[in-house]
Amino acid sequence: MSSAAIAPWLASQLRGLLQQRGHAWLLYGPSGLGQYPLALDLVRAWLCEQPTSEGACGHCESCHAIDVRTHADLFVLMPETDMIELGWPLSEKAQADIDDKKRKPSREIRVDAMRDAIEFAQRTSGRGRGKAVLVYPAERMNQVTANALLKTLEEPPGDVRFVLATEAAHQLLPTIRSRCLGHTMSWPKPTEAAEWLSQQGVGPVDVQVLLRAAGGRPEDALSYSRAGVDAKHWAALPRAVSRGDAVAFADWSPARVVDGLLKLCHDLMAVRAGASPRFFAAADLPQPPSFDALATWSRDLARTFRTVEHPYNAGLLLEALVSQGHRALHSGQEIRR
Ligand SMILES: [Zn+2]
Repeated sequence: MSSAAIAPWLASQLRGLLQQRGHAWLLYGPSGLGQYPLALDLVRAWLCEQPTSEGACGHCESCHAIDVRTHADLFVLMPETDMIELGWPLSEKAQADIDDKKRKPSREIRVDAMRDAIEFAQRTSGRGRGKAVLVYPAERMNQVTANALLKTLEEPPGDVRFVLATEAAHQLLPTIRSRCLGHTMSWPKPTEAAEWLSQQGVGPVDVQVLLRAAGGRPEDALSYSRAGVDAKHWAALPRAVSRGDAVAFADWSPARVVDGLLKLCHDLMAVRAGASPRFFAAADLPQPPSFDALATWSRDLARTFRTVEHPYNAGLLLEALVSQGHRALHSGQEIRR
């Protein structure tokens, strides 16, 4: 196989999916459980020349064509930003527009790309093992693109199969959901997740701390590690917020900052209520402020979270978020630096 061997909790789900028929699957669940790699392994197995009950063979021409991103019978429908990040080529037209700086790579699935996908679905397959369309993240279809796909899902041309993968199934049109067979992503056992993370090169101390930071979701933990967050860094965050110090978050995306602050707020509420924290170690947390202050902070963060993908100025937003946290943590007391 091209990429590292399939993670154990995904391997068992793949076996289950391959035992069932169905021309359209929707893989859904919270982020970080492996929707995209599972979707890709499923289409690899569908298109493989010598598939087994475990999945694709990994060495036939079809498998190779997918590895080098040139399979004529696979259409990958993603926002351009995700295509670029995951190494899929854009259409010539889209690439030319971006190269000529006519526009930036799109964060949504574009209508043009959907049109190409539908045209692809009508064509006969090149290799004779049928065709596949992979849509991820499926929630990035807007009303127009989703409706265009719906028609094809309702009356699929002969030999095409679809797999849609999402981390936000509630944002999909109900009609899209109802046209697909649903598969709920299953959670890895903690030992499976830890072992997989160490295979990806994450050190033993970091594995435990980052898995905890990610609420047990292995891909999210890996993404922390790839963003340069380690155990020490994570442990130092609560006190940094308490000091009003934004430096600890300097290289983080705005969405990651808000997510981290929401986790801190959650843990302080838990401690306030006499429960154990979930994402941070108890010893790393500052004294929680009043429940009221935490509730207000949590609401403010949730509001920011909904708009955080397009911040007007990431630097200003970071300062504002950290000073908001600082104020919340010191509400009712004189602010000491
Ligand atoms: Zn193969």
